[in-house]
Amino acid sequence: MIKWLTPDAYYDSIYAINIDDLSKQGIEGIIIDLDNTLIPRDKKDTPSRLIEWLDNIEKNDLRLCVVSNNKHSRGKAISEKINRPVVSMARKPSRSAFKKALDILKTPEDKTVVIGDQIFTDVMGGRRMGLKTILVVPLKGKDFFTTALIRRLEWRILRRLIKDNRLQKNKGLQLR
Ligand SMILES: [Mg+2]
Repeated sequence: MIKWLTPDAYYDSIYAINIDDLSKQGIEGIIIDLDNTLIPRDKKDTPSRLIEWLDNIEKNDLRLCVVSNNKHSRGKAISEKINRPVVSMARKPSRSAFKKALDILKTPEDKTVVIGDQIFTDVMGGRRMGLKTILVVPLKGKDFFTTALIRRLEWRILRRLIKDNRLQKNKGLQLR
């Protein structure tokens, strides 16, 4: 069970991830969560820092697709703002939305990484698909009420993973 919940890396934020390093490790595609990973869940702003970060992905010859459990209206609005594909109503950790994203990216599973702020949706969903996964500390957006409950359990799992030395923060992708 624990292997389904253990990400390959853990960072303070998306900005701490070394995209150049991912590219050097053969990663070609990024499937990324929206709420509290890219943008706080209760916000729509796309700061210039975020746009620069997104541009840097393509500069490193990687492709990116956003996969969100949020509704289509938010997905569409953000997709237009950042000018990148967003698959919404994803129901992560179910596989279907990840398959859709892989279809859009056209990258092989073993060269695609999932980035997200939640163990039970992003990490578990990615692991089920055989993708590499990167967990980030959630942005401070207001959580959906069930998410707030799940977070408590996620914090306990994280503390355990760090204590057992299965995970270290900001250490780069630990390929298995
Ligand atoms: Mg999220």
